[in-house]
Amino acid sequence: MLSVHIEKKLAHFQLDVQFAVGNERIVLFGPSGSGKTTILNALAGIIHPDAGGISLNDTVFYEAKKRPLSIQKRRIGYLFQDFALFPHMKVEANILYGVKQKGMTSQSPLIQQLLSVMKIGHLLEKYPTQISGGEKQRVALARALATEPHLLLLDEPFSALDKETKAQCHEIVIELHQTWSIPVILVTHDLEEAQKLGDRILFMEKGKIVRQEVNTGQKERLHST
Ligand code: ADP
Ligand code: MG
Repeated sequence: MLSVHIEKKLAHFQLDVQFAVGNERIVLFGPSGSGKTTILNALAGIIHPDAGGISLNDTVFYEAKKRPLSIQKRRIGYLFQDFALFPHMKVEANILYGVKQKGMTSQSPLIQQLLSVMKIGHLLEKYPTQISGGEKQRVALARALATEPHLLLLDEPFSALDKETKAQCHEIVIELHQTWSIPVILVTHDLEEAQKLGDRILFMEKGKIVRQEVNTGQKERLHST
């Protein structure tokens, strides 16, 4: 269980949110500038709240007046909004970037599994400029998951993709989450995407959660499959 309480003064308003996430997919939905990325950055430890508390299972990430847990110790997979793969590295090196020191190779079972789920096994020798946008995002997702994170943060990862590629990526996220049962937080301003991927949708405005919706449509869909 991820437990989140973030208070932070931003340029135009006070960010003040409180929510908990089980091994489910939560969507943060809201207009540009409502504080979504700031929440993910605070969870990842890139920035820190002014007050509140963040913990994942028994690990405290942030507690007021204490030194926050370092980014590295949080075990988070983070797919950034303007994510760029390292352009000078082949797909294989990009995926193994965070796990090479653990002795992992593209033959390691986890990497093999990721390559298979993401359907990117044939791209290992390519450079990022040689693959499509959807393929890049799948490689980026594989890289984020190769580290076996305990929490996955996705910041508008598919917004630049065409409809069909986007739909393929959605299926991959759903399939992945059935195997990697960890809390996932997805940021989007695409309502269709939110309803497809979210078990719950938190609607944000100016730094506050103004409404919360349990996604019954999706539950029915999952149960019927
Ligand atoms: P979103 O991801 O929902 O588009 P952001 O979280 O990026 O929104 O930004 C929310 C608001 O906070 C914006 O008005 C932005 O200018 C402001 N902001 C972002 N980071 C900081 C910061 N470190 N300090 C102060 N204000 C910030
Ligand atoms: Mg953002």
